[in-house]
Amino acid sequence: ATAPLGSSVISLVNRLQDIFARVGSQSTIDLPQVAVVGSQSSGKSSVLEALVGRDFLPRGNDICTRRPLVLQLVQTKRKPDTPDDEYGEFLHLPGRRFHDFSDIRREIQIRLKIFSPNVLDITLVDLPGITKVPVGDQPSDIEARIRTMIMSYIKTPTCLILAVTPANSDLANSDALQMAGIADPDGNRTIGVITKLDIMDRGTDARNLLLGKVIPLRLGYVGVVNRSQEDIQMNRSIKDALIAEEKFFRSRPVYSGLADSCGVPQLAKKLNQILAQHIKAVLPGLRARISSSLVAVAKEHASYGEITESKACAGQGALLLNILSKYSEAFSSMVEGKNEEMS
Ligand code: GDP
Ligand code: MG
Repeated sequence: ATAPLGSSVISLVNRLQDIFARVGSQSTIDLPQVAVVGSQSSGKSSVLEALVGRDFLPRGNDICTRRPLVLQLVQTKRKPDTPDDEYGEFLHLPGRRFHDFSDIRREIQIRLKIFSPNVLDITLVDLPGITKVPVGDQPSDIEARIRTMIMSYIKTPTCLILAVTPANSDLANSDALQMAGIADPDGNRTIGVITKLDIMDRGTDARNLLLGKVIPLRLGYVGVVNRSQEDIQMNRSIKDALIAEEKFFRSRPVYSGLADSCGVPQLAKKLNQILAQHIKAVLPGLRARISSSLVAVAKEHASYGEITESKACAGQGALLLNILSKYSEAFSSMVEGKNEEMS
């Protein structure tokens, strides 16, 4: 299965990394982190899983993420004629490969790496939900502690924030939007995600929320329908859930005309565009670094008197820089949405 997150960016990033490798450059593309914030049970883990396309996070009414789960996706090379080798590895259990994703869900989760040919090298952070009332052995100031911890992640300027609010609660009381508003006051890196559109009070819909008429958000909102607890108990796959989600939106006239704001694939598309924009912004810096390393190599060769070789090297370098410029252009058109399915 192809992960929707990054699917349109993966091949371009791959080719760029190949170019860097060919010139022996240490430059790589550091992608921003993506963090999900919201109240407990708002659907944060569900949104992340749907984006990655695999079940591996604990979800549910009574299971809550107590600590942030830092999820590192690592792209592996696809081996020809073999089934996709996808596995997880915890940082507290180095070297032990989990091929069964249901085993991953049972392990205490803190830092997890997922290796797959279908993912983009990116870090996702599943943050604990904001809770108001301490339960069990939780300290009385649990809410303040959780907020401080969430803030430490989302205040980073390179963190994209998915602010998750369930459609069956009041947006004006959204913890997610409140915290995102403090961490990112200009709204340059916050996407609003409205979950649970399927279980809204009868006679209500999320149209005005999605249009940003209730609380405006610069990058807008995407409404999603994730799996319910019952779906999870019945082992409904993410793939089936995506089909059901599409059917949900298609069968409801209030959401027609809002295609850009509806569904997990749209959320992935939005994220991909932001990632492509980020890559485009860092390319000139990478270009400059490669070009100066080429100059240094050429100088070194010249000082040894290897004139012919340095010429050849400079020629190859120019060619690579040329290719890199082409990629910059490709990214520009991708960011502008003209050419999303580049191969
Ligand atoms: P988290 O605590 O924010 O990570 O929330 P989870 O992703 O664990 O979801 C909490 C519960 O809500 C689970 O039982 C999910 O199955 C359910 N859930 C999440 N999103 C939706 C949705 O869009 N529709 C429905 N019906 N249930 C959902
Ligand atoms: Mg969770």
